[in-house]
Amino acid sequence: MKTLAKSFAKEGIWMEQADRPEVGHNDVLIRVKKTAICGTDVHIYNWDEWSQNTIPVPMTVGHEFVGVIEEIGQEVQGFKVGDRVSGEGHITCGHCRNCRAGRRHLCRNTVGVGVNRPGAFAEYIAIPAVNAFKLPDDISDEMASIFDPFGNAVHTALSFDLVGEDVLITGAGPIGIMAAAVCRHVGARNVVITDVNNYRLGLAQEMGATRAVNVADEKLDDVMQELGMNEGFDIGLEMSGVPSAVQSMLATMNHGGKIAMLGIPPSDMAVDWNQVIFKGLHIKGIYGREMFETWYKMVSLLQSGLDISPIITHRYPVDQFQTGFDVMRSGQSGKVILDWSE
Ligand code: NAD
Ligand code: ZN
Repeated sequence: MKTLAKSFAKEGIWMEQADRPEVGHNDVLIRVKKTAICGTDVHIYNWDEWSQNTIPVPMTVGHEFVGVIEEIGQEVQGFKVGDRVSGEGHITCGHCRNCRAGRRHLCRNTVGVGVNRPGAFAEYIAIPAVNAFKLPDDISDEMASIFDPFGNAVHTALSFDLVGEDVLITGAGPIGIMAAAVCRHVGARNVVITDVNNYRLGLAQEMGATRAVNVADEKLDDVMQELGMNEGFDIGLEMSGVPSAVQSMLATMNHGGKIAMLGIPPSDMAVDWNQVIFKGLHIKGIYGREMFETWYKMVSLLQSGLDISPIITHRYPVDQFQTGFDVMRSGQSGKVILDWSE
């Protein structure tokens, strides 16, 4: 079968041939229809420090996908051949305290599809059946192929009560933009999103942000004045991983504000802890999606009228994967979809 792999320890992704994966007793084999390129795949492409320390070479990459079940392991219940599914890319151990308590997103032994084990940029992928998510007919293949990052947005945004609240989102990457749309849909008042990339800020505005702010040109304080926000933001969603963005968030939060942090900053990021302490801020770290509460909420949000379709800006057959990666790396895109069905 065809795959996209990190074949060499240097910049790039390569198309390779590989054997179909083995299907364990508790696994499902999925024929992949569409995949989406994640920021993580771009890190792996660029072969940055994190990738060099994390990714074994060679490795089939990718973890955002939709497909159809082709084969099921002999112990699997609740799925049948032909079911249309997406998949949770965090494979949890099932034995640790959090797993046993039903808090699988907090498993301390999580293994990542397309990071620590063969990924979804392949004609077929095998994953544990518990990680497969069966899709209602009214969810399109394209939407389902981005459930992984949409789930990051939903998990982060729905961490706190948003109704009537003023929300600051730092980072208008695909996840920040989807989070802005979610916040508006569930009843936030002002949703201000920041970035330094005008293409992405334009997309965020189109998808429902009250105000998209290029922090290279405009001051957040001025925008708050303009919106009549005298006291500060109630909710902060950090989705850039950029230290100056984190610092501006801490500075503009109201007392008692709540922050959810998804973006991955450098490990030595400096924080003004006095802002946290004297403002009585609550800070929550976010990893992945809640299994599977976030997945049900994603379906419900779409079924109740949330439209995130504009986030998909580019589509290519998988043979043109290089163009897809080039577009994604340029920053002039939302989500980029690769089609495996030809
Ligand atoms: P992305 O890299 O596409 O988005 C980050 C955005 O931040 C970019 O658009 C960039 O231009 C913007 N930015 C740069 N400087 C800024 C500044 N000073 N102020 C505001 N924005 C600035 O990433 P994404 O795929 O949307 O993911 C968002 C973040 O979440 C990334 O850091 C990613 O690594 C992280 N992530 C975490 C998890 C998790 O489970 N915790 C999962 C997926 C992604
Ligand atoms: Zn566990």
